[in-house]
This record gives sequence, structure tokens and C-alpha cells, in this order.
Amino acid sequence: MTARIIDGKAFAAKVRAQVALQVATLTQEHGITPGLAVVLVGEDPASQVYVRNKGKQTKECGMASFEHKLDADTSEEALLSLIARLNADPAVHGILVQLPLPGHLNEDLVINAIAPEKDVDGFHISNVGLLATGQKAMVPCTPLGCLMMLREELGSLAGLNAVVVGRSNIVGKPMAQLLLRDSCTVTIAHSRTRDIEAVCREADILVAAVGRPQMVTGDWVKPGATVIDVGINRIEKDGGGTRLVGDVDFASAAEVAGAITPVPGGVGPMTIACLLANTLTACCRVNTLPEPK
Ligand code: NDP
Repeated sequence: MTARIIDGKAFAAKVRAQVALQVATLTQEHGITPGLAVVLVGEDPASQVYVRNKGKQTKECGMASFEHKLDADTSEEALLSLIARLNADPAVHGILVQLPLPGHLNEDLVINAIAPEKDVDGFHISNVGLLATGQKAMVPCTPLGCLMMLREELGSLAGLNAVVVGRSNIVGKPMAQLLLRDSCTVTIAHSRTRDIEAVCREADILVAAVGRPQMVTGDWVKPGATVIDVGINRIEKDGGGTRLVGDVDFASAAEVAGAITPVPGGVGPMTIACLLANTLTACCRVNTLPEPK
């Protein structure tokens, strides 16, 4: 293996420690404790794990964590009324509705009901528009975490060719916006892209956010490229049980790349760290205090 491994777990711990320090100062100097409300509808096992981790890390950073677990058959009206209450609650600075929602609930409607200044996931249409127009936005946590790792690894990203595989609203599109904001030349590839391997081989920065286990193999990677693997896929292990893999075939890609994120231990931990950082930012903005760097 030639690639350097980008240690998202260690980087995330550093980000969380910084957030904890800033939270402590905020509490001591201003008597304000940032609060994050997480809403989970239904019993999706993966979502339950995410919500539990988010709550635990929120508290570890010294912030207040409010968990709202609703039944899978909760009506849209009841969910919207909870969001309205959280919007009005001064102890709540960030609101996150865990996705996916059960099929009878309209995700767009629910997300856009969150007050944009409390939308720490950055999915509200106002935040999407602010990011696209280069204004101060709440930036989606997963792409923000990827950007932080890329900056740490490469310094300035200006002029680099970046290819993002995947065009979802929660990862692919905001990732492309952030790379564009950092002056990369950005290509978004997706399921209809022709000769996707050749497109990817042009990338100095290759971000895979597809949801297909180990799709991106070493022969898709430009020698020396920085590869960010957003995918989280559970696959059967030889000899029974399951394991997590990314959208990148780590073994073959690491032979060619200059640096690469592992799964697990890459993008995943950074996502939650950025959620905490976004909650702190939201709290500072609403109290007109200087924003954390
Ligand atoms: P979506 O399913 O919403 O989007 C997947 C994208 O991949 C689509 O744009 C789709 O293209 C594209 N795609 C699918 N198949 C192919 C293919 N064969 N070739 C090229 N492109 C393809 O997924 P998400 O963006 O929500 O998530 C992507 C991955 O990231 C998942 O594994 C998810 O679990 C993971 N994830 C990880 C997070 C973390 O914290 N680490 C957070 C969020 C997601 P098209 O639009 O044409 O259909």
C-alpha cells in the first residue's frame, strides 16, 4: 500500500475537543449552553445507533442534548407541531430530524419547517440557496467534514480537479458546492455518467458518495490522488457475520492514491464532529457572539 491513511477518527476527536473548549468558555463567560435537539421517527436500527451516538457526543462536549423519539406512525401534523415547539424553544440552538423518515411523511416539508438558523444539518432550502450563492449558510455536516479533511491534507484546494461521484442533496451536491467555493474545478458524476472510470481518473480529489459497496476500484484512481470515501455499506463477511465497507475498494485504491480515508474511521466520525461544531455556530449566531473558527 502506498497511500497515506487519513485518520478521520483522530481528526474528529480534535474537532470535538475544540468544540468542548469553546462550549465551556461560552457557558462560563455568557451563561449560555448550546443545545441540540434530535428527532427520530420510527425504529430504523441504523438511525437508532446514529441518534444514540449523537446524543452521547453532544453531552460529552458540554452541550445540552434533547432526544425526541416518535412512533413510526406519527402523523405529519404531530411532527410539524414538535418542530414548531423546538423552533420556539430558546434552549434549542440546533434541530436535526434523522433521515430517512417513514414513507408517509414528506421529508422536504418537514426539513423546510425547521427554522433555517437552527437547521444544523444544512438541508433547509434557505441554507442550500445561501451555500450556492456564497453566503453565510449552515453547511451539511458530511461534506463539511470531507472538506476539513481535504484542507488538512492538501492545504489550498485551488485549481485542483475534483470529481464527486453521487448527486444527492445531502452529500454529492453540497460537496460539489464546497469544492467549488474552494476554487476546485468540479465534476459531478452519477449513474448516467458515461465512462465514469475515465472521468474519475482525471481527479486530483475523488469523493465517492454512491451507496454501492467497493464500486470505485484502484483503476479509477489517478496516481497520487486524494480519495474521500463517504460510503457506509454493510456486507456479508466470508465465514459469516457482516462488516462495514465504503464505496471505494480500499485495498486496490490505496495502491494508487496519495491519501485515502478508511471505512470505518474516516468520514463517519467527522460528520458527528461537524454537527456539534454547527450547533455551536448556530448558538453563537443567535446570540450575536463571534463565531468559532
Ligand atoms: P443516495 O442514494 O441519495 O445517492 C447516491 C448517488 O449515487 C446518486 O446520485 C446516484 O446517481 C449515484 N449512483 C448510484 N449508483 C451509481 C453508479 N453505479 N455509478 C455512479 N453513480 C451512481 O445516497 P447518499 O448520497 O445519501 O449516500 C451515499 C453514501 O454515503 C451511502 O453509502 C451512505 O450510507 C453514505 N453516507 C455516509 C454518511 C457519513 O456520515 N459517512 C452520511 C450520509 C451518507 P443518480 O442520481 O443518477 O441515481
